[in-house]
Amino acid sequence: MAQPRLEVRNLVRRFEGRAVVDDVSLTIEPGNVTCLLGPSGCGKSTTLRMIAGVDMQDSGSIHVDGTLVCDTVFRIPPERRAIGLMFQDFALFPHLSVGENVAFGLKGAGSAKKARATELLDRVGLGHFIDEYPHQLSGGEQQRVALARALAPRPRIMLMDEPFSGLDNRLRDGIRDETLAVLKEEGASVLLVTHEPEEAMRMADEIALMRGGKIVQRGAPYNIYNAPADKAAVAFFSDIN
Ligand code: ADP
Ligand code: MG
Repeated sequence: MAQPRLEVRNLVRRFEGRAVVDDVSLTIEPGNVTCLLGPSGCGKSTTLRMIAGVDMQDSGSIHVDGTLVCDTVFRIPPERRAIGLMFQDFALFPHLSVGENVAFGLKGAGSAKKARATELLDRVGLGHFIDEYPHQLSGGEQQRVALARALAPRPRIMLMDEPFSGLDNRLRDGIRDETLAVLKEEGASVLLVTHEPEEAMRMADEIALMRGGKIVQRGAPYNIYNAPADKAAVAFFSDIN
């Protein structure tokens, strides 16, 4: 089988003696969307922060494309991990145009940066906004610009932490579908954190179900939904229909 894009092995993070991430292992295959799904407080964001490199594990290791990114003695800093980030608060730079926002993290000649920004903005359907400023856009449009910005440098992995939770309910399903289409067109490998089973069912190639700091089940959405590992998993899925 091909080498996983991301491999997390036996990750542990303790706060005040309590393991909030408790021996988490997971892999992401290239081009896949994996959803880390679980109730609030189960350790999803802490896991993501360690992969991003903004927090450090107490034990365990992380590899990207087979290369060690960090273990307990070695650590590549966040800015050298080729990881794209998108959080609920996806703040664009207000003083930069939409195009400048998308080009912000890019290196190289101005013309190449502009070409890539244009490509990404076209992909999210906002090419005509390239010279506008963030405050001129709706919340959903700003979200799409943030997605374009995160994807522009072609990150090896996209980490998304509840990226849709700040959006109006009426917009959310449409934006989820559009986002998924863009991620697939770009061939991005994604770890998306959510506490909403419906979101994971809609977007994931694979779900890793987390509870109390542990991954309790992994598999295709359909399989997990149809055969939850235990009563708690059944209850967790019961509010979707
Ligand atoms: P989730 O993203 O699944 O909602 P988190 O990873 O944010 O969960 O948090 C998991 C647990 O770790 C929670 O109980 C939270 O209060 C605790 N926690 C997170 N960060 C810290 C911290 N810096 N110091 C102490 N406890 C923390
Ligand atoms: Mg969280």
